Amino acid sequence: MNESVFHDPSSVLLLGPGPSPVSDAVRAAMAAPVLGHLDPEFVQLMDRVQGGLRTLYGTENRFTLPISGTGSAGMEAAVVNLVEPGDRVVVGIHGVFGGRMRDLVERQGGEAVVVEVPFGEPLDPDAMAEAIAGGDTKVVGLVHAETSTGVLQPLAEIVGAARAAGALVVLDCVTSLGGVPVELDRLGVDAAYSGTQKCLSVPPGLAPLSFSERAFERIRSRAKPSTSWYLDAGLLSGYWGEGQRAYHHTAPISMIYGLAAGLDAALGEGLEERFARHADAAQRLHRGLEVLGLECLVPVELRTPMLTSVCVPDGVDELAVRKRLRQLHGIEIGGGLGSLAGRVWRIGLMGHGARPEVVQRLLAALGESLGSVGFRCDVGAAMSTASV
Ligand code: PLP
Repeated sequence: MNESVFHDPSSVLLLGPGPSPVSDAVRAAMAAPVLGHLDPEFVQLMDRVQGGLRTLYGTENRFTLPISGTGSAGMEAAVVNLVEPGDRVVVGIHGVFGGRMRDLVERQGGEAVVVEVPFGEPLDPDAMAEAIAGGDTKVVGLVHAETSTGVLQPLAEIVGAARAAGALVVLDCVTSLGGVPVELDRLGVDAAYSGTQKCLSVPPGLAPLSFSERAFERIRSRAKPSTSWYLDAGLLSGYWGEGQRAYHHTAPISMIYGLAAGLDAALGEGLEERFARHADAAQRLHRGLEVLGLECLVPVELRTPMLTSVCVPDGVDELAVRKRLRQLHGIEIGGGLGSLAGRVWRIGLMGHGARPEVVQRLLAALGESLGSVGFRCDVGAAMSTASV
């Protein structure tokens, strides 16, 4: 009798908003024997992972660790630790994930003051500054790379306004970490979270989180402990902190092996080189899309390299194109989210997927799929423009 009921999934090139392609090195690391969560060898690996995350985040923050859970768990950890009932929190919404942050703030009993722009635009720093100065703002939350639109949010002015008001800044780096510079300490960002399944090319399951000393002071001075036991930063630092480590919850050992391998790959490549590779792949894609006759949602100077929203041309069945890409070409891209549903495709070139040969394969498949639904385009010309 066949003992395994596991269905081995087919190999699909993941070029959507995440998860991104996972390298063989990461998959091999995750298949290693499981150690105990307080085993000395595993503790050494924890130290290495924390060091790697600090480098990637551009921070000296002691509290830098992977939360057990996906990017949303990182967002929830930031909010449940830093927001107390009644706190005024300015939330910038320029896509779906800013909206999720508002929801979490309100669930914690915070007063969410929202600054919103249409999807596809960046937040206006003046509007954010005005909202921040409009009351006793405790926290300012915003998304760095909005995966629902493809906007890379400029940060300096907003962070400056928050710091001037004495507010903590919480930055969503789920899609930006590992693909563009983040540099928490230089910017003055107090809290940041990310996910492993985007530019780190590790499967979904961990949320790298970092809190500054200022953020930690805020946590220490809370009137009441956080409503979440699992995500309580003080309790987590008992396991992830220096010195004697105490059990909090059983760490997802194999995921942490995978993250360690993903960090080794990122730091081994060199951060500058990695960011340049993401930028180069995006520029090739943008040139190729233009030759195919497609428009991007976001102006080029605001586009985040790892996620491009492409406007669906009039009369084209967007779902038919995505289905053909998946079924005939073995490529996944994303559809639109929220108000952009049905209006855009989202193409992710993240981590291991941000390579010239991947762009070539995508342009060939996309051109063929568009042709199949009656949209005429010159695939050869697009591929040759993108090849240089
Ligand atoms: N924030 C951003 C910018 C995201 O792109 C995502 C997921 O795509 C999330 C938060 C939520 O992360 P997850 O789906 O891993 O929980």
